[in-house]
Amino acid sequence: MHQVSTIATISTPLGVGAIGIVRMTGPEAISICAQVFRSASGSPLDRAATHSLCHGAVQDPASGNLVDEVLVGIMRAPRTYTREDIVEVNCHGGPVVQQKVLSLFLERGARLASPGEFTRRAFLNGRIDLAQAESVVQIISAKTEAGLRVALAQLDGSLSGEIGELRQAILLEMAAMEADIDFSDEDIEELDRDQTGERLEQIRSRLEELIDSAFVGRVLSQGVRTAIVGKPNVGKSSLLNSLLMRERAIVTEIPGTTRDTIEEIINVKGIPLQLIDTAGLRPATDEVEQVGVERSRRAMREADLILCLFDGSEPEDDHDRALLTSLPKDRAIFVINKCDRFRGQSPRFNRGLLPSEPVIISALTRQGLNQLKEKITGAVLGGSLPPLEGPIVTHERHRLLLEGARDSLGRACQGLRVGLGEELIAEELRAALAALGEITGEEIADDLLETIFREFCIGK
Ligand code: GDP
Repeated sequence: MHQVSTIATISTPLGVGAIGIVRMTGPEAISICAQVFRSASGSPLDRAATHSLCHGAVQDPASGNLVDEVLVGIMRAPRTYTREDIVEVNCHGGPVVQQKVLSLFLERGARLASPGEFTRRAFLNGRIDLAQAESVVQIISAKTEAGLRVALAQLDGSLSGEIGELRQAILLEMAAMEADIDFSDEDIEELDRDQTGERLEQIRSRLEELIDSAFVGRVLSQGVRTAIVGKPNVGKSSLLNSLLMRERAIVTEIPGTTRDTIEEIINVKGIPLQLIDTAGLRPATDEVEQVGVERSRRAMREADLILCLFDGSEPEDDHDRALLTSLPKDRAIFVINKCDRFRGQSPRFNRGLLPSEPVIISALTRQGLNQLKEKITGAVLGGSLPPLEGPIVTHERHRLLLEGARDSLGRACQGLRVGLGEELIAEELRAALAALGEITGEEIADDLLETIFREFCIGK
């Protein structure tokens, strides 16, 4: 039989902190740790009860030197995250200490864990399904409370439960259809194609609802890609700053992305806006201005939402007009800034040029900022956050598979109507089942698993 290895890694972020955790899972986890641990009470680690903490010290057996005073958490299989034995060494949070503890484990037979390998084991050992495993990444990278709630619900299995029910329903139809194919010459009741079609249609519309939830899911988990555009000096950075002022700015480093970007997120009434770096947000010199314009265009193409800014204290000019012609207007919110300069008066900028009613603000005095935020939430989610009940699809991978399943069912329904052979219809049902099975991981290829778990950070 395949020998399961014991794996270890530092689970807390790199850098200095109050504590750091070195984590190990696998059949040898407890015995490897016992070789370097001296307990304060004198009782050996391998006799420690499950889910207990042991106080003591890690010592390098080769030199006899003390490495650190630690607390060791012992969790025995199967009631653990990976369903294997797990050891968590809480040491002091310096990188040298954690690295030393880790290398003592590696010298004694543990292997360095790759990103997501703990969660991968939880999946392979049947503790969680794939959709749940993927939600772990989201919990870690959640940018707002709402995003976190959706991710937690997915970890809890709400999406998996729904997918399971839909698969079961398709399976029943398929079984009836196959029985009809196999025993068509015997005396059993013939398949009622109309009724089968109706039931499949119901499943299809439930899939459609799940697919519709994906937009909200993406907004909550990844944020609305937002560009602030406008000619130089209209107040783009000032607006950014005043939006950042009250709402806490969260700067996240997303590991695993090709660019390793640092992205800036503003939380606007629970909706995370992910700001796309546009020209003009940073001071640009003349010769790079052209590059800047191109960047601005690209940002507008990539954006879900565009905040298009004008200076209300000045009449419009060619720059403003050029911007208005190049703008995708359906995704734009128009903002007239510097209203403190024309207090009570109409702005000098001709608002008649704008295709929809602008929001009038002062980035400097924060006047109108609340209306702007309301306009933003309205534009994104039609008013406010929808009730976060029921499963919400947050992964692009899931959405594509749901669409595949929906299309297969659509073809099956169509086939039933036009008198297509049952073998061909059963084939479509099988494809729908396979697609849904890929979401929860019942039917999934190894290389795909590899890709999915690569998104994880080390130690999870
Ligand atoms: P950007 O080039 O579009 O990013 O513009 P900035 O945010 O750097 O602003 C340009 C100038 O306009 C700065 O001197 C700001 O202080 C000023 N400014 C920005 N917003 C306002 C506002 O609402 N009222 C007034 N009076 N000045 C503003």
